Amino acid sequence: MTLALGCIADDYTGASDLANTLTRAGLRTVQTIGVPADDLALPEVDAVVVSLKSRSIEAGLAVSRSRAAETWLRGRGARHVLFKICSTFDSTDAGNIGPVMDALRADCGEAVVLVTPAFPETGRTVYQGNLFVGAVPLNESPLKDHPLNPMHDSNLVRVLARQSNTQIGLVDLATVTRGAEAVRARLAELAGKGIGAAIIDAVFDRDLETIGLVAAEHRLSVGASGIGLGLARALVSTGSVKAAAISDAGAPVGGPAACLAGSCSQATLQQIANAERIMPVLHLDPDRIIARADEVQRALDWAAPRLADGPVLIASSSTPDQVAALQARHGRDAAGHAIEQAMADIAESLVKSGVRRLIVAGGETSGAVVDRLKIPGFLVGVEIAAGVPVLRAVGAASDMLLALKSGNFGGAEFFSDALRLMR
Ligand code: ADP
Repeated sequence: MTLALGCIADDYTGASDLANTLTRAGLRTVQTIGVPADDLALPEVDAVVVSLKSRSIEAGLAVSRSRAAETWLRGRGARHVLFKICSTFDSTDAGNIGPVMDALRADCGEAVVLVTPAFPETGRTVYQGNLFVGAVPLNESPLKDHPLNPMHDSNLVRVLARQSNTQIGLVDLATVTRGAEAVRARLAELAGKGIGAAIIDAVFDRDLETIGLVAAEHRLSVGASGIGLGLARALVSTGSVKAAAISDAGAPVGGPAACLAGSCSQATLQQIANAERIMPVLHLDPDRIIARADEVQRALDWAAPRLADGPVLIASSSTPDQVAALQARHGRDAAGHAIEQAMADIAESLVKSGVRRLIVAGGETSGAVVDRLKIPGFLVGVEIAAGVPVLRAVGAASDMLLALKSGNFGGAEFFSDALRLMR
C-alpha cells in the first residue's frame, strides 16, 4: 500500500478533526495513536494521521517524535506530509511549530514550505499573513489569554520567524486569487531569495483548493484541517486518489454494545436522560469510586446479565452542583482521574467479556478508555453527529467499533443515533 498523504498532528483532538475532514473529502483515512509499530497491519487507505501530544512539550522532544512519525509515513510511501497544527497557531515563541517544520523540511529537502492555519468554514482566515479568529485578529481573540500558549501577535510571518531558522515569506490573497500558477511563480520567487517557508493567505474555501493543488506538488506543508481539506480535494481532483465511499469502516461487527458516559456536560446529561427511555442505565456513585469501593465490580455485575438483551449505559455523570461538591470533597484532579480510571477498568472488562461496540462520552474519558484498550489506531467512518465519526479499531486484539464524543457534541438522541450506525 502506498499512502497518498501522511499527516502528523500535534494533538489528539486536532488529529481526529483532520482525519474526519479527510474522510468527508473522500480519502480512506486511519488515525493512529502515537507513532505506530512497524508491523501495524493497515487496511487499504489513502491517508494516515499520526496523533502526537507534542504541542506544548519541549521543542527537542516535539522534533524527535515528529521525525519518527515522518519516517514511518514516508516508509509507507507518503509523498506529501502535512504537519497538522492548531487553527489558532497555538505555540509560544520557544515553541514547536518552527522547530518541527525546520526539521521536517531538512529531512525532505523542501525548498519552500507552505504554511497556513486558515479554515474559513470554522472562522479561521488569514489575510496579509494576519490570522483572524472570527471577526477579530488573533491577538484580540480569547487566545490572548490561553493558559499554555497565549497568542499576542496575529502576524504569523513574524510569529513563525521567531521560531524558525529560515526566513519566512508571504503569499498574499491577491496572488492566491489569481490561481495555482500565480502561487507557483511566487514560491519560485521566494525560493530564489533563499526563503524557506511562506505563510499563505486564505479567506474563502476556494482559496484552500488553490493552495491544496500547489501544496500537493510539494513534499511538506504546515497547517490545520483547512489545508488538509485543500490537499484532499486536490488528490481527488487530480486522480491521485479515487474518492471512496466512507461506509466500509462501519461494516457490522455484531456482538454486545455498551455506552460509557464520564462527561458532565449539559449535552451529555440530556443525552443520558433520553437514553433511559431505550436502554438500562446505571448511575455510578462517584464517592464510592474515589473511596475505591467495589463500584467497578458492581457495574460489571449489573451489566453482565443485561448485555445479551441489548445495549446498556453506565454513567458517572452528575449535575454541576454535584460535581462541584464532589470536587470540594476530594479535589478536582483526584476526582477526575479516579473516575476516568474506573471508566477505563469498566471498558477493559466489558471488552474482555465480549463487548464489540463501545460508545464513550467525554474527551478525557475517551482518552483513558482508548489508552487502556491499547488500540493503535482507527479507520474513520461516517459521522454520527458533526465531528463524531464511527471508528473501527485497527491493529487491536479484536475487531470493534467505537464512538468517542467530546462532552458537548451530538444531538439529544446521540446514543441511539450512534447505535443505529454501529451494528
Ligand atoms: P468533557 O468532554 O465533557 O469535558 P471529559 O471526559 O473530558 O468530558 O471530562 C469530564 C471529567 O469529569 C473527567 O475527568 C471525569 O472523570 C470527571 N467526572 C466524571 N463524572 C464526574 C462526577 N460525577 N463528578 C466529578 N467529576 C466527574
